[in-house]
Amino acid sequence: MNFYFNSDLASGYKSNSQKIRVMSENWLSCNMFCPACGNIHISKLSNNMPVADLKCDRCGEIYELKSVNGKIGRKISDGAYSTMIERITGAGNPDLFIMEYSREWQVVNLTLIPRFFFTPSIIEKRKPLSAQARRAGWVGCNILYSAIPDQGKITIIKNQEVMAMESVVESYARVRKLQIGDIKKRSWLLDVLSCVNAISKDDFSLVEMYKFADILQANHISNHNIEAKIRQQLQILRDAGFIEFLGRGRYRKIQVR
Ligand SMILES: [Zn+2]
Repeated sequence: MNFYFNSDLASGYKSNSQKIRVMSENWLSCNMFCPACGNIHISKLSNNMPVADLKCDRCGEIYELKSVNGKIGRKISDGAYSTMIERITGAGNPDLFIMEYSREWQVVNLTLIPRFFFTPSIIEKRKPLSAQARRAGWVGCNILYSAIPDQGKITIIKNQEVMAMESVVESYARVRKLQIGDIKKRSWLLDVLSCVNAISKDDFSLVEMYKFADILQANHISNHNIEAKIRQQLQILRDAGFIEFLGRGRYRKIQVR
């Protein structure tokens, strides 16, 4: 795989961000398969599409690309907060490719976050722009990358090592079992999954899960029976094949490979 961007494409653009956008999208459309269905190609969409950058012509999955020079931090800055919340609670949200590229314009890392891993708790509201700013009062947002459960970060390229297409498609199919349209239900499931991930051992108990009750309550203020909700989400994680029930309030994580 050639990891270099096609720098010829940059010549017509003045701003660096435009150059990167054009080159990185081109790189993806030339080199990337569809993680959702294994189609060997995804196509670039026209630039007037509001959020989507690429689309699979076979399964219809749409993708957005964000490129970062160097290493991605704990958060990624994004557009307007209200638009983002509207998007993730609606049906048309794309999957998000996150590309890390080097100063030499080479792709180093590529990760995919499926759309159903987006919840309001991973979107941070930024401070409104000051009265002096051109867009005074405008409120942007950050995607809290570190708050996304690991299951929602599918590695495709790591330090220029390319994962096999079959394993990427398999990973996507596995996490698709966690897909929930309703944003409240989705938030519950992924918040509880994050708690499970936060326990470092493979085996854990209900008592350990209940220790997260205060954190979960803060995210779900209107819920008055947090412990029952935790048990219910653990059942969903069991049915989706992410944990097994050992009985008597004991659970075990199911690790892949
Ligand atoms: Zn597809």
